[in-house]
Amino acid sequence: MLFSIDERLSRIPGLVHGFGRGDLTEEGLRTFALGRGLRLVLLDQIHSDIIHIIEEAPAGRLPGDALATNAPGLLLAVKTADCLPVLLADFRLRVVAAVHAGWRGTRLRIVEKTVRAMAGRFGTDPADVIAALGPGIGASCYEVGEEVRSEFLSAGLPGSVFAPAGRPGKHFLDLAEANASLLRAAGVPEIAPAGDSGCTHCDPRMHSFRRDRDASRRMFSFIGLSS
Ligand SMILES: [Zn+2]
Repeated sequence: MLFSIDERLSRIPGLVHGFGRGDLTEEGLRTFALGRGLRLVLLDQIHSDIIHIIEEAPAGRLPGDALATNAPGLLLAVKTADCLPVLLADFRLRVVAAVHAGWRGTRLRIVEKTVRAMAGRFGTDPADVIAALGPGIGASCYEVGEEVRSEFLSAGLPGSVFAPAGRPGKHFLDLAEANASLLRAAGVPEIAPAGDSGCTHCDPRMHSFRRDRDASRRMFSFIGLSS
């Protein structure tokens, strides 16, 4: 398998999803989608809080960092290498979303805003949302500067997602916990890391921008409704 799955999401009938490892290429994902009669939808990711709610595949790549739909036939995908991919599914109303959350998107509360957008557009009750956090950089590998911490604190995010990095002005940021706290704030009860989601920086099967310094190497996380 080129990707890992979330047990809870896999129990939703007609839902297709996965967190791709480093060896799942865009071409490989396109073939996977085609084989299931799905059209792959990718973003032009810009570390924003822009969410696109779509009903059909757009002509080109939309600038933004989250995609949501209730339409069958689309495979929504985000690409990451250290940033956190988040897949969301409203199992009752059958709405799915894929979110790219790096520290900038996290500070802008993109996962929380995506849940609110699902509620606003489709009537999603956050209590019906299953959230799966994919592989991102681990808390003990993600060193950030004081400016990131102060931006988070001024945006109202909890200081508890930071730990001292042992060097002056440096902190470790727990990106997964920061996003989990935003999802809890949005009323989502079911939040879990998916399958073998380890640290992208430590796991050689994963791409890590901090480790490899190669912006062309990304991993794909995807979700869609086949029927
Ligand atoms: Zn690590």
